[in-house]
Amino acid sequence: MPIDPTKPYDDENIFAKILRGEIPSSKVYEDEWAFAFEDINPQAEVHTLVIPKGRYVSWDDFSAKASAEEIAGFVRAVGKVARDKGLVEPGYRMMANVGAHGGQEVPHLHVHIFGGEPLGPMIA
Ligand code: ADP
Repeated sequence: MPIDPTKPYDDENIFAKILRGEIPSSKVYEDEWAFAFEDINPQAEVHTLVIPKGRYVSWDDFSAKASAEEIAGFVRAVGKVARDKGLVEPGYRMMANVGAHGGQEVPHLHVHIFGGEPLGPMIA
């Protein structure tokens, strides 16, 4: 079910539970601002999710409400995860789905990182 990105943040969403360590995940990176883990249903050879530690439903409220420090920390973490996975050369794709038309299913902002193989025009 696509989510409504205008709804208030739900502390019981699955990624909030992953952040609190209440359900397991394959963690690949964590710092003050972000947490990264492997997607449970990978759509490419590499499919990693990066989420901010703050309570943001989607890219929409993150881009509008997060502090400059949070935004910088999160953006740097996404870049670092891709770099540490050796994806920069030959390249990768990053994507954030927003709302129904974007096909967003989990109401906590997440950036998908895809790579490890040539990617088609659209994915996930
Ligand atoms: P979509 O499912 O259409 O890609 P999203 O952009 O909201 O929608 O992506 C949610 C992603 O979260 C999916 O790729 C899904 O496989 C992944 N996912 C859902 N539950 C878990 C989980 N417990 N651990 C890791 N990844 C998960």
